[in-house]
Amino acid sequence: MLSPLRLLRRRRRRKLLQRGLIPESTWLSSLADLPIFKYLSTGERERLRQLSTFFVHEKIFEPAGGMRLDDRVRTRIAALACLPILNLDFDWYEGWRTVVVYPGGFIRPRSAFDDIGVMHEWEDLVTGESWERGPVILSWADVRGSGHCEGYNVVIHEMAHKLDMLNGTADGFPILHRGMDRQVWTDVFTAAFTDFNARVDQAEDTLIDPYAAEGPGEFFAVLSEYFFEVPGLVRKEYPAVYDLLAQFYGQDPAVRFPSSLPTLEQKCQT
Ligand SMILES: [Zn+2]
Repeated sequence: MLSPLRLLRRRRRRKLLQRGLIPESTWLSSLADLPIFKYLSTGERERLRQLSTFFVHEKIFEPAGGMRLDDRVRTRIAALACLPILNLDFDWYEGWRTVVVYPGGFIRPRSAFDDIGVMHEWEDLVTGESWERGPVILSWADVRGSGHCEGYNVVIHEMAHKLDMLNGTADGFPILHRGMDRQVWTDVFTAAFTDFNARVDQAEDTLIDPYAAEGPGEFFAVLSEYFFEVPGLVRKEYPAVYDLLAQFYGQDPAVRFPSSLPTLEQKCQT
């Protein structure tokens, strides 16, 4: 049985759909040049448009660093953000409200103690951030560079962290669906993460971004990017991880993408 809060949300979203989806001209022009959406079925596109309508209405978009927000910016971010939950439910994005958008990468101060207890401070140029129960922060330049089936997708990366953080820190262990085995998830991801770290340590020129070796949370987020952008690559390199991501996201994008697609996926298959 659904809780009163979930029932209320569903009713509110039903009303929102009755009032209208994101206008077709905005929807089409925001997504027109993105190959990641090209092979969605008509039904999937319609569902994505509904979820994106919820996203645009329920999330608060805040410009930063001189960024100018318009409907096309909001729609593009919403569509990329909702692809991972296409076969889930919008409730997976509950618990946070704000999407901050910078025009490009943004600076974050960092500090850490070294082995002898000396504090070091520096600045990082960041393209995206997700805070636990807090905002998602995105570089618009990097959003524009996402969705081209090249393995890079800052929005999906940050949304994967959001899904991962529904049960605490971003540790690569999200809430699993009924019927999914926690031990299998741990074993498969640990083995793949260990293998990937060894390859990075040996200076292998990996097709998957070495940033995935930063930690289990980053491994899950980066592999999620590749899962949607170049699914054939994940299926080839880490088939057991691919299967678990397909179960978790309820999607099988490698089937969706035709083999003729001129992407990294095809390059890897040759
Ligand atoms: Zn990350």
